[in-house]
Amino acid sequence: MDLGIAGKWALVCGASKGLGLGCAQALAAEGVNLVINARGEAALQQAAQAVRASASAVQVVAVAADITTPEGRAAVLAAPGGPGSALDIVVTNAGGPPPGNFRDWDRQAWLDAVNANMLTPIELIRATVDGMAERGFGRIVNITSGAVKAPIDILGLSNGARSGLTGFVAGVARSAIAARGVTINNLLPGRFDTDRLAATLQAGAAHTGRSLQAERQAQQARIPAGRFGTPREFGAICAFLCSVQAGYITGQNLLADGGAYPGTF
Ligand code: NAP
Repeated sequence: MDLGIAGKWALVCGASKGLGLGCAQALAAEGVNLVINARGEAALQQAAQAVRASASAVQVVAVAADITTPEGRAAVLAAPGGPGSALDIVVTNAGGPPPGNFRDWDRQAWLDAVNANMLTPIELIRATVDGMAERGFGRIVNITSGAVKAPIDILGLSNGARSGLTGFVAGVARSAIAARGVTINNLLPGRFDTDRLAATLQAGAAHTGRSLQAERQAQQARIPAGRFGTPREFGAICAFLCSVQAGYITGQNLLADGGAYPGTF
């Protein structure tokens, strides 16, 4: 299927690896020009090269910056394809907050989580959504977490901060921008095979006393699909949400979790 977005410009944050890179690669395969972002310069440049190699017709601009800071966002938004020259698609993403026990989290830990996983996406939406509406096309996809629908006790910082973003998006997606070609959706990963998952598995193994392999198998066995998802699968869903065909999908929270969420709705 031709997604109808070739030649458009997308900003993909947290795109040097994992789910963000999966989204960048899927968009590039559709002919979308990219501004990709992550903090680590070397891995980001490597990712940019890999995307260019797989989709030679697209332009890829790499901006190494911390997207959770005002300076980082300014650098990313000043890049080619940024507000001056019109972003059509924005994929918000940053690392998730650390797991732990809520009794150990002080006010600063909460402020950091809210800044990274709620206020940063909101700032990026604020900076780009009106331009998209003026031009009559826009797609914003926020990478959040399955924990928004099925909270995990040790991920309290994530549960809380991302729920704030989810509530905000539910309102703004249904505002006047909806009639002007702009959609905003949240894409909720369950368990995907990325570096972040590897770190979670290691922590799980340390907690349960299992070997890493045994922990991996135990976690996969709890997923109806019997496996973890791949960044490629995640990227394909993201690209579809950014497509012309997805213009009637907005304000949604789309779970990609191999059936792990047990509810009917
Ligand atoms: P990952 O493999 O660790 O990749 C994270 C990416 O984001 C990297 O490119 C990283 O590069 C970048 N990044 C992190 N902090 C950043 C910042 N402040 N500014 C700019 N870039 C930043 O993680 P992932 O598995 O793809 O996860 C992506 C998001 O989905 C996270 O929020 C995670 O919590 C959420 N999630 C993932 C899963 C899963 O199973 N994988 C499940 C639920 C939710 P640098 O470190 O160089 O900046």
